[in-house]
Amino acid sequence: RISNQGGNGVCVYQSEMNADALLRLELSHDLRQAAEQNELLIYYQPKINLINGNLIGAEALVRWQHPQHGMISPAEFIPLAEETGSIGRIGEWILRAACARNRQWQTEGYPPQSIAVNLSARQFNRELPKQVAQILRDTGLEAKYLELEITEGIAMSVDSSIDIMRQLRELGVKLAIDDFGTGFSSLTYLKQFPIQTLKIDQSFVKQLEHSLSDRAIVRSIIELGHHLELDIVAEGVETVEQKQMLEEYRCDTMQGYLFSRPVPADEYEKFLITPSPGSSNKRKTT
Ligand code: C2E
Ligand code: MG
Ligand code: MG
Ligand code: MG
Repeated sequence: RISNQGGNGVCVYQSEMNADALLRLELSHDLRQAAEQNELLIYYQPKINLINGNLIGAEALVRWQHPQHGMISPAEFIPLAEETGSIGRIGEWILRAACARNRQWQTEGYPPQSIAVNLSARQFNRELPKQVAQILRDTGLEAKYLELEITEGIAMSVDSSIDIMRQLRELGVKLAIDDFGTGFSSLTYLKQFPIQTLKIDQSFVKQLEHSLSDRAIVRSIIELGHHLELDIVAEGVETVEQKQMLEEYRCDTMQGYLFSRPVPADEYEKFLITPSPGSSNKRKTT
């Protein structure tokens, strides 16, 4: 409602402007500087081998520590960054930071492992393979220690997506389909994607104990994935019962609060130095 009862029209308009819209405006402005101002943090969530309990790596998950608004979730600001075009810089910063951190852990003597980084739709373009190659060169990280996660939606919506995936594979980077089962990828596409990993969306895992149909879906994804020689990661594992069912269904890897929430890099290092049962992972004292 723009009042015309006199006074300063602009002021009236602003005061009645939806608070949400104002906040979005403020945040999209601040986002442009967020990386440069050191406001972005990367948290790491462990991924665990369901067969032997070993730590096999982590997913990098970005957070925004806003000076006034506190910690902001990527589910909120990544879409905003996409809409306003900041995603290019932010996405590149995240990739570089995760690769540099992973490389640093290796030079400090921690056992090498791969870190998965999420890509957003606008990052997944023809320039991406070149950008990734440059980041790997700059950070000195071997390509096999970087995994890129894209959703089915992203993989399906770009004409040249299979081409881009192939170029990334030629570099030696691993590829995963994230949130699998929630998109609309056809099996025809799935078999053409040069991917190594399927991540079962957490919405199916959540109801595993209580929903027959979710159980059927999870089992089918695992079986289908294995026939396509893919590794299967279950996301959002929160209970022992879910873990046991996933073990029974021969799922390869789990990720979820049951083992750990995403944690800051220094906290993640604790997982790296604790040798898992049956593994000979030891931190070298270099
Ligand atoms: P995602 O890639 O599917 O990541 C998994 C999300 O599930 C993360 O939320 C993680 O914290 C959460 N999660 C993990 N285990 C559990 C669990 O046991 N229970 C529950 N309830 N949740 C669990 P987060 O960190 O808030 O990220 C949300 C989404 O934002 C991500 O979903 C991803 O799509 C996007 N995102 C996060 N970081 C980045 C990034 O660096 N770049 C881009 N483009 N997107 C990102
Ligand atoms: Mg992900
Ligand atoms: Mg996911
Ligand atoms: Mg997601």
